[in-house]
Amino acid sequence: MGSWKGERVSKAYLGVDVGSISTKAVALDSGGEVLARSYLWTEGNPVRAVKNVLAEVEEQVDGTGAEIVAVGTTGSARQLTGAILGAQVVKNEITSHAVGTLSRHSDVQTIFEIGGQDSKIIIVRDGVPVDYAMNTLCAAGTGSFLSSQARRIGVPVEEFGEYALRSKRATKIAGRCTVFAESDLVHKAQIGHAVEDIIAGLCNAIVGNYLNNVGKGKEILAPIVFQGGVSKNVGVVHAFEQATGHEVMVDEDGHLMGSLGVALVARDSGGEAPFSFAVRDVAFETVGEECGGCPNECEVVLVLREGEVLDGWGNRCPRGMERVAERLGVSKVTVTSAG
Ligand code: SF4
Repeated sequence: MGSWKGERVSKAYLGVDVGSISTKAVALDSGGEVLARSYLWTEGNPVRAVKNVLAEVEEQVDGTGAEIVAVGTTGSARQLTGAILGAQVVKNEITSHAVGTLSRHSDVQTIFEIGGQDSKIIIVRDGVPVDYAMNTLCAAGTGSFLSSQARRIGVPVEEFGEYALRSKRATKIAGRCTVFAESDLVHKAQIGHAVEDIIAGLCNAIVGNYLNNVGKGKEILAPIVFQGGVSKNVGVVHAFEQATGHEVMVDEDGHLMGSLGVALVARDSGGEAPFSFAVRDVAFETVGEECGGCPNECEVVLVLREGEVLDGWGNRCPRGMERVAERLGVSKVTVTSAG
């Protein structure tokens, strides 16, 4: 996007959150207002997903007179994405989600998050994240649990919320493990439990699992904000409210909170550099190799931009990137943007 003479150009900040299931991006103006939003599936290809969200963001930003001057990245592929976009800041999910949520709910004390394949809890006191826990191993406390049970019942997961709220008596489902839950669910359906009661039971199971797993030992105080893809499910929101005895708020941008937070961090970092959406046309490649320079056996990952090393990580000392680049016959590292 360019600007023409006489056009008033305002600054904008891009935040990109690349997870294993979904890739999210927002562009904010300097006041933190959202100019553009994008949410797409990662589909195992983070580079392509980043290019696709950039296309959607560019379309929405175009014509607003705003130009991206700083970029922040977060999520499991934050370093790769940071290297590709020349990001000013690369932040972990906890910081990004906390900053994003606090910008909308300044008094929040507990942040619940349930995504497709992971879940986390962030404890905030006086506007500062003080504790957190993550679950990346157990599917029973994540969105994939609901999706797999939805397939079994034959009700689309998007309709789970409405069904759950119609239930008068939620079925008790053994939800500690997806395998047990599945056989319990089949059994309960066979003995005549209504589908809305089973779905309400599944919502209770995911909440029970979450609170006994990531929420274990945490002091859960209101105000509570619930985010991540599963927060769009009113049945799970209701189950959280019943389990905690508190109102549970869901922000309309809750599924974008990581990208929103890291865009704010990029804005506040003060670092600025011209950003071009033309990065979408560049060919990127990642290669991984063991360094082999010492018994540490670091697994070094390099990001190549048109055959040149753009950045890398996994090396515990500077020799790692040099060694792997040399072995692969690519030119030495020229840029290191991702921390
Ligand atoms: S990167 Fe450094 S610490 Fe790691 S294996 Fe290579 S030489 Fe050893």
